[in-house]
Amino acid sequence: MLFDFKLSTPEEGLVDITNEVTEAIMESGVLEGLCVIFCPHTTAAITINENADPDVKADFVLGMDRSFPELSAFRHAEGNSDAHIKSSTIGASETIIIAGGKPLLGTWQNIYFCEFDGPRTRKFYVKIMGG
Ligand code: ZN
Repeated sequence: MLFDFKLSTPEEGLVDITNEVTEAIMESGVLEGLCVIFCPHTTAAITINENADPDVKADFVLGMDRSFPELSAFRHAEGNSDAHIKSSTIGASETIIIAGGKPLLGTWQNIYFCEFDGPRTRKFYVKIMGG
């Protein structure tokens, strides 16, 4: 079963999509299986990270900016090579185990859509497989 979602993103940052993924799993009726969350964009990504302290999200953005700064030596004319590099570094998808009809996540884990070149209207897919 394939679900697609739209979201409005900030200039840069993590958008919590755990509720959307959980709702898709519940709607699918799958109790045991796997779930793939996929981002079809080249300047965004999907990740799992801490849900408790919101400062983690801010530090994530700061850390990514420091690790992958925009360089004048970049050749890509669109001027967002840093966002392309961040996208590939974090990755376009996450695979999650479905157990008991819910995503199997650690206590401190949530699922995030990462925006590196916003604000934009984005989408992501959730593919749910039972068994
Ligand atoms: Zn580009």
